[in-house]
Amino acid sequence: MILPTSPTLPRSGPSGMSQAQYQQSQSAANRNPLPWNWTAAGNQAASYTPTVPDKWWSHTPEQWAALSEVKRRDFGHIGRIMETELGTILPEDKACDYCRDLHQECWVYTKEGARQIINHGDACARCRVTARRGGCSISKRKKTQKSPEFPGPRSNKPLLPRGPQPPPPPGGSGITV
Ligand SMILES: [Zn+2]
Ligand SMILES: [Zn+2]
Repeated sequence: MILPTSPTLPRSGPSGMSQAQYQQSQSAANRNPLPWNWTAAGNQAASYTPTVPDKWWSHTPEQWAALSEVKRRDFGHIGRIMETELGTILPEDKACDYCRDLHQECWVYTKEGARQIINHGDACARCRVTARRGGCSISKRKKTQKSPEFPGPRSNKPLLPRGPQPPPPPGGSGITV
């Protein structure tokens, strides 16, 4: 019997990982998010290239160069969600169906983060990798909330006064030093 490839390498060498180790290595729950360059206008259209290596969304420069423009845009969204402060992890009971099925962390743009990006979409990071038929259950949930009802009279929504709010009285806050 011949073992042509490195027969002395132990089964779980430094380059190998158990499944638990791998899952742990892919977790972004304890990440240090990269700061985002927030703008008042939001709707930023600049592309984003993920920078963190060895993650499920990582690409080598060669792999990145080989991606289509559409895929680069997809992974740009994924990178912003997973690497910067524009993204947030959903609690397990709020995760999308796909992530819950596979016991994966479900990451999405924060509400404020999404406003920074043009055409941000609603799907979670995992569901942006491949356009799944039916899409991410989170974006579906959002769509079904906005039920396409006829634009009736807006009588049940009282309009909030838009005027300037009176300033709080000096010393009125409960904070004492
Ligand atoms: Zn998800
Ligand atoms: Zn999803």
